[in-house]
Amino acid sequence: MRLRYLVAAAAAWLAVAGAVSAQQETASAIDRLYALACGEGRAPDQSRWSPGVNVGQPLDLVDNCYLIHHKDGYLLWDTGITDAIAAMPEGQPGVNGATSWRLPKTLASQLAGLGVAPADIRYVAISHTHPDHIGNVELFSQAMLLVQKAEYEWPAPFGAGRFKPEHPVMKLEGDKDVFGDGSVILLSTPGHTPGHQSLLVHLAKTGWLVLSGDAVHFLDNWDHRRVPGPNFDKDKTLASLQRIADVMAQHHAQLWINHDKAQGDKLRRPPEFYE
Ligand SMILES: [Zn+2]
Repeated sequence: MRLRYLVAAAAAWLAVAGAVSAQQETASAIDRLYALACGEGRAPDQSRWSPGVNVGQPLDLVDNCYLIHHKDGYLLWDTGITDAIAAMPEGQPGVNGATSWRLPKTLASQLAGLGVAPADIRYVAISHTHPDHIGNVELFSQAMLLVQKAEYEWPAPFGAGRFKPEHPVMKLEGDKDVFGDGSVILLSTPGHTPGHQSLLVHLAKTGWLVLSGDAVHFLDNWDHRRVPGPNFDKDKTLASLQRIADVMAQHHAQLWINHDKAQGDKLRRPPEFYE
């Protein structure tokens, strides 16, 4: 199975190798992607996500939001932990083994620093409905939510409703080419939650990116295809990881893992951006 994958990946790479330099200069309707810092987390036990591995070892996480400027409008991918945590001097403590969170700078102020008002955001696409991804979703009350129907209708695990019922929403059933030109494609990648999705983005200079959501939490888990214990569906998680690998091979894409601190620490931060 692994050999077959490697052969397929090698063939895919050979097929695109000659076109890679050209591909990197292929036009895109996206001219800027900003990686916003939307939370700093510390979890007491990494093995929550890697069963049996590094049991009892603490894990530092980052949490990102990505602001994408397309010629037809702004899309925000995930909204991080709630901006209210920025006002807590010690951050929000984790309870019962949960992650504690700090937020040095609110999402609202990061956007303001770029001259972007919440009303300027056309689409807010959500990987899934855990609190570290939808913390500020109602800051963008006029933006069209792009959420999988299975996620929207998933009974709220934390009691309160996750979206205001009046918030405009497109409830998706599968993939969605957001702007209709192939530059931003939502990929249905269920498993972590019932309607989890990831984002495939094409940038003219940077090339193709897969923004992971929480399909995977850090690089070592990706390399070993580990499934976190709390995930909603193990088989669907593994199928989604394979799907992401296939998409990456097809597009020669990078994988940007949302919570991976080593990756996150290397990201270009605003006012710098990717193009
Ligand atoms: Zn998360």
